[in-house]
Amino acid sequence: MAANKKLLMLPGDGIGPEVMKQVQTIIDWMDKRRHVSFDVTNDVVGGAAIDKYGQPLGDNTLADAMGVDAVLLGAVGGPKWDNVERDLRPEMGLLTLRKEMDLYANLRPATVLPAMAKASSLKEELVSGLDMLIVRELTGGVYFGKPRGIEKLADGTRKAVDTQVYSEAEIERVCRLAFELAGKRSGKVHSVEKANVMETGVLWRQIATEIGADFPDIDLHHMYADNCAMQLVRQPKQFDVIVTDNLFGDILSDCAAMLTGSLGMLPSASLGAADSDGRRKALYEPVHGSAPDIAGQGIANPLAMIQSFAMCLKYSFDMGEDADLIEQACKNVLDAGLRTPDILEAGMTKISTTDMGDHVTKELDKLSA
Ligand code: NAD
Repeated sequence: MAANKKLLMLPGDGIGPEVMKQVQTIIDWMDKRRHVSFDVTNDVVGGAAIDKYGQPLGDNTLADAMGVDAVLLGAVGGPKWDNVERDLRPEMGLLTLRKEMDLYANLRPATVLPAMAKASSLKEELVSGLDMLIVRELTGGVYFGKPRGIEKLADGTRKAVDTQVYSEAEIERVCRLAFELAGKRSGKVHSVEKANVMETGVLWRQIATEIGADFPDIDLHHMYADNCAMQLVRQPKQFDVIVTDNLFGDILSDCAAMLTGSLGMLPSASLGAADSDGRRKALYEPVHGSAPDIAGQGIANPLAMIQSFAMCLKYSFDMGEDADLIEQACKNVLDAGLRTPDILEAGMTKISTTDMGDHVTKELDKLSA
């Protein structure tokens, strides 16, 4: 089949290249067994780009990212680059990509497979089977609002200011996306803000309600962010899709992440606006960082990266069936008790990063036989 699906692979630093390699294994499998080909371009980002191009994101890399259907990123950063100046730090490569691609929505699923429920800090019955999605607004709000800064006052003390600003358009596009996603899931949206004490919260609630009217089949709930934090640890399975602003999303998605128990299992997607053909700029990456403490040892868990690729198939290429197949293969490997050291439990078999990739492809073989 003609290769018309353009992917840019940016493995990055630390364990990034190790986990990305397992995605390549799956891409090769898809090419051979499903006759689905991708045009894959490889490049560097973060510390590796500082070493190669003298900056954390090369100009040509950015141009390539703007031209492909999806970017897959491993992780950036590491002690080698800890002391470079702020604008040249590895994470600036990632931040520049997000900004230039205008990736305004960050999607973080938090799922707990029954086989992994023991790894959660909550009781097994509270999390087993959890399947929720947090949609976080990513390019607005208090992290970007002006004025901001620290100033010295006449009396010699200091004052710090951050500003939470949201336009109607910024809230509308992320809420609309959340409703669309909920339509493909179990059809429930929790819109989360602090309308009781924040003007941006009042506007957020008004707009979520207005957008909700366009989606009569979706069950819309409004919830204050502090209550949402409580509910996430009290009864997380009540949630399907949560849509919230940048700051609350940052905190609540980390909280939801920990319900699943393992950083090495968490994928994410960041999506931009759809063009006239319905195609969105998109970047897929695991939630974890470059894990310099285990880099080069062949023991990193590649499942977050592999599942980020599954998200890519679902959201960028409308290949939900293939995405489901990959997710099922990952689940089967875990059910068989095969684990990288980060998720190892008593009585299970310890395997390497490469073994995990190979076992997932073996399961893919079995599932599609
Ligand atoms: P980290 O996520 O890299 O690691 C935290 C802990 O989790 C470590 O003990 C690590 O070994 C473990 N871990 C992470 N991913 C794992 C995996 N796939 N398999 C097994 N174990 C895994 O976070 P950190 O230690 O705070 O940061 C390390 C570096 O990564 C820093 O330079 C930081 O700036 C960078 N970072 C990058 C991103 C990103 O690229 N998006 C995100 C977070 C941190």
